Amino acid sequence: MSNFSAEFGPVLRAAGVVGAGGAGFPAYIKAQSRADCVIVNAAECEPLLKKDQKLLELFPEKVFDGLELMMRSTGAGEGVVGIKKKHEKTILRLEEIARSRKNIRVLKLGDYYPAGDEQCLVYEATGRVVPPGGLPLAAGCVVNNVETLYNAALAQSSPVIEKWVTITGAVKKPCTIKVPIGITYSEAVEIAGGVKIKEPVAAIDGGPMMGKVLLEFNVPITKSSGGLIVLPRSHPLIAKKAQSRSVVSRIGRSVCDQCSFCTELCPRYLLGHNVQPHRVMRNLLFSGPERKLHSQYALLCCECSLCSLYSCPEGLHPMAACASAKSDLREIKVNYRESAINAGRADYPHPSRDFRKVPMSKLIRRLGLSDYNTDAPWFDADYKPARVKILMTQHIGVPCVPSVKPGEIVQKGAVVGLAPENKLGCPVHASISGVVAKVNDKYVEIVA
Ligand code: SF4
Ligand code: SF4
Repeated sequence: MSNFSAEFGPVLRAAGVVGAGGAGFPAYIKAQSRADCVIVNAAECEPLLKKDQKLLELFPEKVFDGLELMMRSTGAGEGVVGIKKKHEKTILRLEEIARSRKNIRVLKLGDYYPAGDEQCLVYEATGRVVPPGGLPLAAGCVVNNVETLYNAALAQSSPVIEKWVTITGAVKKPCTIKVPIGITYSEAVEIAGGVKIKEPVAAIDGGPMMGKVLLEFNVPITKSSGGLIVLPRSHPLIAKKAQSRSVVSRIGRSVCDQCSFCTELCPRYLLGHNVQPHRVMRNLLFSGPERKLHSQYALLCCECSLCSLYSCPEGLHPMAACASAKSDLREIKVNYRESAINAGRADYPHPSRDFRKVPMSKLIRRLGLSDYNTDAPWFDADYKPARVKILMTQHIGVPCVPSVKPGEIVQKGAVVGLAPENKLGCPVHASISGVVAKVNDKYVEIVA
């Protein structure tokens, strides 16, 4: 570990900086690793979400500061900002800043899904394929989301207490806002003018492809929330994403005709990894040892949902079948490295990879989201909530333990939950000043 990473890692941990793109992985771990390239994931390939683009438009210098800190900490000689080439105006500004910094370049990506998958991005940026079952670090790269690097640049002076989110879909004023962590999505929807349709609504938290369905919005916003897409509850995307495991299995077993389109368009398969969702679907018919073998073709699935929401002509849910298979294999402690299908390193992507990238415009149409595909302009809401609920689990790792008691007065930015010292995790902080109203092992509630 370099001298700088020995200093910078603890700063990131104390400020509670975690992956803001949805994963919530503590940033200090990446900062304390050794890499030769740091990549900014500015692809923002979840349809309808805009928060990374708005942040880059408003604070590009800060994101570059965060990138430089991460490069210095990891010893990386190169920084790459991966952004879709359709963002021409932002790119001009980014290229201008890059010229004034050392060893940083802007990589223009096509408008396809999932350009922001970190392993796809590593390949686009460096020409290296991450070894199957490995992390980008195994290819010498660290990948960070735009907002994570913005937070890293601020970490010395401010902990993570605010979140950038896009609130869009069936709301009156789709927008991108910065709000105190711990307000509810209901409050955020009100900032976006409220719901604009009369029929019952549901929402997707974190993007139509990889996000989760919310049937009620009284849920606190966390450090890894990406945004909310409000939709009629009857929207086919809500029904598809809410399918139970037994329904996925029953329909998949009887309808899948093994056409293998799900595999042929799978972005990880096209990178050369041995993930084959059609074999996992075939598996739904098996029991016994055959079942275990075919399940293993799910082990390298990143759950991008392309197979379920785009590729399958029968409207089946191979991603859910892969997620179930992975969970079953975890229970019996089978991982890819020791699996029967691990044939070693995948150095080369599929020769047709470039021709099988799925254009965003087609994907949005297929998802039934064309009517909601509007801009979500930045809006300085300056929202002052009456109360916030700070969750103890906002990151990958061990949950925090509350460090305050009911009745205590806390200032904005104070630590209210601590992660155990030698475990993976980060503290959480008060996003407003006020009185601690409630404490339990799940959250700390603060009233202004
Ligand atoms: S694309 Fe659909 S029908 Fe074809 S193999 Fe995959 S799950 Fe089965
Ligand atoms: S969700 Fe489907 S398309 Fe995506 S990685 Fe998994 S198997 Fe491949």
